[in-house]
Amino acid sequence: MLERTYKEKMLIATCILGIIGATPFTLYRLFNGYHLLAFLDTCLVVGLTSCLYCVLKTRKIEVPATIVSIVSLGVMVGIVHVKGPSNVYTIFPVIMATFCLLTARSAAIINIIAMFFLFPAFYGKLSSYEIIIIYTSIFVLSLFAYFFTLVTSQQQFELTRLAARDGLTGVWNRRTLDSDLKQLLLNYQSKPFYAALIIMDIDHFKSINDQHGHAIGDEILQKFAKLLSSFTGISDQVYRYGGEEFVLVTEGTCIKDAEILAETIRSRVENSQFLEGQKITISLGVAELKRDITSEQWLSSADEALYFAKNSGRNQYQMAKPFESKASLVLAAS
Ligand code: GH3
Ligand code: MG
Ligand code: MG
Repeated sequence: MLERTYKEKMLIATCILGIIGATPFTLYRLFNGYHLLAFLDTCLVVGLTSCLYCVLKTRKIEVPATIVSIVSLGVMVGIVHVKGPSNVYTIFPVIMATFCLLTARSAAIINIIAMFFLFPAFYGKLSSYEIIIIYTSIFVLSLFAYFFTLVTSQQQFELTRLAARDGLTGVWNRRTLDSDLKQLLLNYQSKPFYAALIIMDIDHFKSINDQHGHAIGDEILQKFAKLLSSFTGISDQVYRYGGEEFVLVTEGTCIKDAEILAETIRSRVENSQFLEGQKITISLGVAELKRDITSEQWLSSADEALYFAKNSGRNQYQMAKPFESKASLVLAAS
């Protein structure tokens, strides 16, 4: 089970709090004859419950978050219209919530539209001075919320990038590999497709480091990662598995094509001038995605093939042994 994202948790918490907060008002108003207000509250509770169900079921957040924001703001504006301008304070927390749930731009647009519909609730009931005070407060609050959301979302984007990428080479890191493989296997279980994993290791890298220094070693790693990235399309990804080991995962590639790709990469590295006067080579292990295989088993079968390539003289690829699932082993034994 994948962990829920921060935005998902935020939306779930908002829906639950909204439902808990609005239900007593709905019941109170319903049983005390405030039918219009009870109807507005019911819209809010039903809207929040539907969105909560949708997030829990589908894990999609954009549409439910937009609906929650529109329904909540709409209901609050409606309440001010029905109960009078003195209820305007109920809108302030909802404005803040919209900036927490949506992008700064979407929240700003929805709030501007809501403020437009709010105006008739004040017109003729409040003095111009009072209306200006209310709108100025809403504007200042929205401005702070807008810039706060903008800055935090940029910081979050940068942090996510840093946590997902390898600092030296810029390709995806081991943590991303683990979560991507899990996701890929989940997709495969619902609808099988071709996929292959190629694990690569630079040959005798320790002696390159020893001869030329760690900084040159780093440069070679960067050049190698750049070369690997040039082989990737939309459905292929490159990861730094650790040290001088990299993994390439290709989706929609049959094992024959993966084999050709492995050989192409190997020969491109051999013929590249990563280091003047010295040939750099790599060894590779190739494994196909099979039914019932776990991500660990997939990786370790490619790793075994890599180990075999190393023991067979390096500067070559080896194919992983066919994977035997537990089910097929049980069938074979019976
Ligand atoms: P083999 O052909 O068997 O793979 O031999 P090898 O020397 O490449 O393998 P070994 O595991 O003995 O050494 C890996 C070396 O990679 C040792 C380590 O110093 C180096 N290394 C790991 N990470 C980095 C890095 O980020 N930068 C540099 N410059 N070197 C690194
Ligand atoms: Mg190694
Ligand atoms: Mg090595």
